[in-house]
Amino acid sequence: MRSVVLCFSGLDPSGGAGLQADIEAIAALGGHAAIVCTALTIQDSQKVYGFQAIDPDFLIAQAERVLADLPVKAIKCGMLANPDIVQVVQTIAERYPHIPLLVDPVLAANSGGSLANSHMVNALTRLFPLATLITPNTLEARWLSQQDDLAATIPYLTSVGAQAILLKGGHEQGQLIKNQLFMQGKLQQTSQWPRLPAEFHGSGCSLAAAIAAGIAQGLSLTTAITRAEVWLHSALQRADYPHPQGQAIPYRVPFSC
Ligand code: PLP
Repeated sequence: MRSVVLCFSGLDPSGGAGLQADIEAIAALGGHAAIVCTALTIQDSQKVYGFQAIDPDFLIAQAERVLADLPVKAIKCGMLANPDIVQVVQTIAERYPHIPLLVDPVLAANSGGSLANSHMVNALTRLFPLATLITPNTLEARWLSQQDDLAATIPYLTSVGAQAILLKGGHEQGQLIKNQLFMQGKLQQTSQWPRLPAEFHGSGCSLAAAIAAGIAQGLSLTTAITRAEVWLHSALQRADYPHPQGQAIPYRVPFSC
């Protein structure tokens, strides 16, 4: 069957980010997404208005059923909402150590609204040694390492166990967006993308999910990242603009018939 990615992600009812981004990105790259829904959010293309987390025991039961039933080849997590749900992922990752884990450390939406409570930094950090790859943007890297100096974030995240870090540069200034892959703290790969004239909803989720699809399909980390970046750039170029004050929604699954 298609390579299965088990995703722990939240529901964004606007369909731009979260679990819908995961499903569409993974499908677009030839995989199959199985979703454990961690939280329901209230949001549109402009703003997050609130969220409600799902009961951790319920999430464990969902994940265990999928893992017993489907040939899961990678696990991807996005919005985990609170430390109890981070613990759910930790429990599953420890029970299934042979399945690669990708951690997208979601703390806030691109639009700025919080998607996690204040105790998340320590909790998420405990997941890093279990992860094949973590994919912070530069804001998340600074929050997670409690450092303002970007250069200091990679040594810190490496020291707390992150083996591979894709540092996404979309929140920095400049006409080019630079993504950098660090492995064991050393720069392994850099890519640069022209900045598109828009803000996007769910671009981080989409990229992480697309990388997870590649990992599930057996691609090397560097190839999975490059393929996901190329794909994301075209999904962003095609994006829809639902509201003049809102963010653009990536067009991940182009119509073809
Ligand atoms: N997960 C959920 C459920 C979200 O609603 C969002 C943003 O709105 C994110 C993750 C992070 O989205 P982005 O890819 O824009 O960082």
